[in-house]
Amino acid sequence: MSHKLRVTINIDLDLRQARMEVNGCLTEENCQALLPIIRRCFRILRDPRVVIDTSKAQHIDTEGLDALRRLGVGQVDHTAFDLPGSCSLVVPDDLPVCPARAPRFHGSHQYAS
Ligand SMILES: [Zn+2]
Repeated sequence: MSHKLRVTINIDLDLRQARMEVNGCLTEENCQALLPIIRRCFRILRDPRVVIDTSKAQHIDTEGLDALRRLGVGQVDHTAFDLPGSCSLVVPDDLPVCPARAPRFHGSHQYAS
């Protein structure tokens, strides 16, 4: 089963903030792909602030979020990391499970008595 990560980036016209909307699947394997994009945003922005919004993702792995945090995403003190600006993370309360992995519901299985 393949997890596809899709990202939409919105950059403010005044170049102060970028917002990355994560769609699709965010896993430990593919979350690394966000880093070059974040770096590129930091290079474009005058006041490097990037918000990564995963609230519309289809699927989020806890391991993926942990990996992002280890890389410095969503940390208040980001100076210890590789990233040259601040990068916050918006995460939904309930992490969505991959549609490819979730059990399918076949209509209703009701047993008449
Ligand atoms: Zn998935």
